[in-house]
Amino acid sequence: MSRLTLDRLSKHYGNTVAVDEVSLDIAQGEMVVLLGPSGCGKTTTLRMIAGFIQASGGDVRVDGQSILALEPHEREMGIVFQSYALFPHMTVARNVAFGLEMRGVPAVERRERVSQMLRLARLEAMAERLPRQLSGGQQQRVALARALAIQPRVLLLDEPLSNLDAALRGDVGRDIRLLQRESNLTTIMVTHDQDEAMAMADRLVVMKDGKVQQVGTQEDLYERPATPFVAGFIGRSNMLDGVLSPDGAVVEVDGTPVRLAAPHRGNGPCVLALRPERVSIEESGLSAPGDGLLTGIVELANYLGPVREHLIRLGQNTRLVVRNPTSQPGHLHAVGERVTLRWDAAAERLFTAQGTPIPSRIPENQGTDRRWNANA
Ligand code: ATP
Repeated sequence: MSRLTLDRLSKHYGNTVAVDEVSLDIAQGEMVVLLGPSGCGKTTTLRMIAGFIQASGGDVRVDGQSILALEPHEREMGIVFQSYALFPHMTVARNVAFGLEMRGVPAVERRERVSQMLRLARLEAMAERLPRQLSGGQQQRVALARALAIQPRVLLLDEPLSNLDAALRGDVGRDIRLLQRESNLTTIMVTHDQDEAMAMADRLVVMKDGKVQQVGTQEDLYERPATPFVAGFIGRSNMLDGVLSPDGAVVEVDGTPVRLAAPHRGNGPCVLALRPERVSIEESGLSAPGDGLLTGIVELANYLGPVREHLIRLGQNTRLVVRNPTSQPGHLHAVGERVTLRWDAAAERLFTAQGTPIPSRIPENQGTDRRWNANA
């Protein structure tokens, strides 16, 4: 039952900076997911917390006390690896009891704790089986029950779903999340899978090149990405390179004017991020004042079941994807047709060429309020 703090935690390997001053506060019972592409430093961060790798700088604190000087087994962390790491010759029940035996927990209490864990992980019927007699998902639930049995102060999950079939991942992910909630455990999970991260986290930490790009809830990261990298990594975004006009109202992209839904502060080279699902093809030929607008040529049109997807070309070399639910009015447009796209202020995000957000001239919480346009 603990709060975990990372304070400018770093790891250097020679000239390689694997983890670069990562700071983070994780509340009691919170599930935080470290997310990022291969090599971004998430595993190294987790291993420094566990004590398997020595930090080069910074601190890790549990309830305000540094744990860096402690051996891994003294840190009271429950750890689940992607490889399950179960003892193959021990039954499920003995695997779950292992950490308790190591800690000298008396037999009666041990038996009670093991049966409680097996019940919680829905493994009671399998207590006497060996790991090889279980499916991957069941084995991962044993690993989780074993990690929870010792009543750790913090739970560390290292890609716990990555060895499972795609079909099983959702189920096991939900099991882990429910168990984590029920036991109210402060938890850090590492994954490179965005969907997994979104489904399981209270808050996410997006990392790149050893650095934290952004920390926030799913909604924070999706609606208000702090960098173009986050905009492209959380959900998808069309990234259009362009030049913002001096009045901040129009971005010229590949020779084509793109009218922004909201004027922005600044001018010059910029990147416009537009979510494919937040842009629609204008069916009526009319658009409301305050909509973002551009026209382009349909290059591909596909009916994908839940969504219609169009690839639209803008200028000579710029393309963007537009994805709209088939449950909403609309139809597939013909290849070669010139269409008008529109979106509202909440759908657009502008960055400088260096990746710093360019603020809109209207406050964030009025992003979808169109009255600004009447007063502009
Ligand atoms: P993956 O998802 O592939 O495991 P990751 O985000 O977990 O990636 P890390 O394994 O933490 O990334 O590695 C971060 C960086 O540190 C990488 O550039 C990696 O090459 C480097 N690195 C990791 N371990 C060592 C080591 N023992 N010696 C030198 N460099 C290392």
